Amino acid sequence: LFGSREMKILMLGLDNAGKTTILYKLKLNKIRTSAPTVGFNVETVSYKNVKFNMWDVGGQERLRPLWRHYFPATTALIFVIDSHDKERLREAKEELYAIISEKEMENVILLVWANKQDLKGALKPQEVSDYLQLGLNLKNQLWCVVGSNALTGQGLVEGLSWISNNTP
Ligand code: GDP
Repeated sequence: LFGSREMKILMLGLDNAGKTTILYKLKLNKIRTSAPTVGFNVETVSYKNVKFNMWDVGGQERLRPLWRHYFPATTALIFVIDSHDKERLREAKEELYAIISEKEMENVILLVWANKQDLKGALKPQEVSDYLQLGLNLKNQLWCVVGSNALTGQGLVEGLSWISNNTP
């Protein structure tokens, strides 16, 4: 099809952040209750003329050393954060920086979904953004923080549009 594009999107984040819920909300527009991701899920999500091959790789600590095997040929990294789980924000930030400081990831664009915006007391996208200090630390990468609610799908299209608008 003229003008259609395909890109590999890697979706990472700590376990329980909402990655699998987001993937299946986008894919099926329904909510799938699942066991924590072991290994990975790959689904193709089409939005406008872009085919996003979305790789959702499990975020449990013992699985994280496997993340880097999924880095090659990634166009965009989506990092999902549970905005309500303040106790694990620091861990999330550390994992995010470990990923984006890898050589293979230096040209990716970064979308952070500040997920679980529906929960009372959740940090707002701007607060998540301030905490991550991406503006200070990312000199050559494009990044964006978007609030989301994976249960309703709020913020998901906004995030995918941003990716599609910022990739050649
Ligand atoms: P993963 O480990 O990152 O794949 O996380 P899951 O997709 O399995 O989600 C973990 C839990 O958080 C599940 O109970 C989901 O229903 C819940 N969850 C995911 N996204 C949201 C959200 O935006 N709001 C709320 N309230 N719960 C969510």
